[in-house]
Amino acid sequence: MTFLFNSDATRGAVFAEAFAEALPDVPFAMDAAAVDPDAVRYLITWTVPADLARYRNLEVLFSIGAGVDQLRLDLVPAHVKVVRMVEDGIVRMMQEYAACAVLMLHRNMPAYFAQQRARQWRPLPQIQAAERRIGILGLGMLAQAVLERLKPFGFGLAAWSRSPRAIDGVACHHGAAGLTAMLAEADILICLLPLTDETRGFLNAELFARLPAGSALVHVGRGPQLDHDALIAALDSGRLSGAVVDVTDPEPLPEDHAFWQHPKIILTPHVASITQAATAARAVVENVKRYRAGLDPIGLVDRRRGY
Ligand code: NDP
Repeated sequence: MTFLFNSDATRGAVFAEAFAEALPDVPFAMDAAAVDPDAVRYLITWTVPADLARYRNLEVLFSIGAGVDQLRLDLVPAHVKVVRMVEDGIVRMMQEYAACAVLMLHRNMPAYFAQQRARQWRPLPQIQAAERRIGILGLGMLAQAVLERLKPFGFGLAAWSRSPRAIDGVACHHGAAGLTAMLAEADILICLLPLTDETRGFLNAELFARLPAGSALVHVGRGPQLDHDALIAALDSGRLSGAVVDVTDPEPLPEDHAFWQHPKIILTPHVASITQAATAARAVVENVKRYRAGLDPIGLVDRRRGY
């Protein structure tokens, strides 16, 4: 019942230590070439290896990252459980990034950056947090954690999911009608949706047109959810006032892409949150223990929904 680790060696060393301590009866391997493929029950990886079929007894495939859109799930036998990464480090970093992005947009930082470069000392009108409404697309683990972090600032908070949910202090919307209602009141829209067939191209001109004029976007979902040209057009026409973009398609962006130079875009290279080895190792160890106890691992992916 070997656990095969297929990611970078530095992280692997941290995982090896955690497994030796907490699961000494589970052999931990980092060299796929040296392992008996029939012994492999668990695999952690970023993408599905081309030779996955050699692990005939595989039971659980763990993603090293929070999303599973990079996994070719069609290559993974139906009986294999697929588990995304749910760990404290990813959550904490996303809370920091989203709060930072919201505060920068709320406090007009993109405009002040431009003014500084132009040597202009000019206070801009500032509305109070209670008058600023934040809407989040997605109400999963990360969105809930971000909402918790944003609460103390006093923003109006709303979120949208596929199924109905209830969270204290948050206007929770779902379904098509819920989306229209939330978009109409989102001064800052945060995208924290997983990438699926339904969310590909979701952030497009039609969606931007449903936001209040002058609203702003924080995109921390996945690159292919955003129509890049539509964002540029919305910013240039003034429909949107600013955007903080962490994920793009492709990554990295080509050198001549309009996002690099756009005065209303703050661009970061997919760093909103990154799997942290120590906390991730603890989370995966716990999940292996859960699985062996007959419980569902935390972060179990619904193969049908794709997230
Ligand atoms: P979850 O699976 O916990 O939550 C996903 C949420 O999106 C759920 O609320 C779900 O609704 C909702 N959703 C999914 N599809 C639809 C749809 N078609 N219509 C309406 N709502 C939908 O995911 P996480 O919170 O853990 O992560 C979200 C995403 O964040 C990841 O998939 C990843 O792409 C991205 N991410 C980005 C990072 C970065 O560094 N930029 C780092 C980590 C993650 P319901 O509740 O009804 O199921």
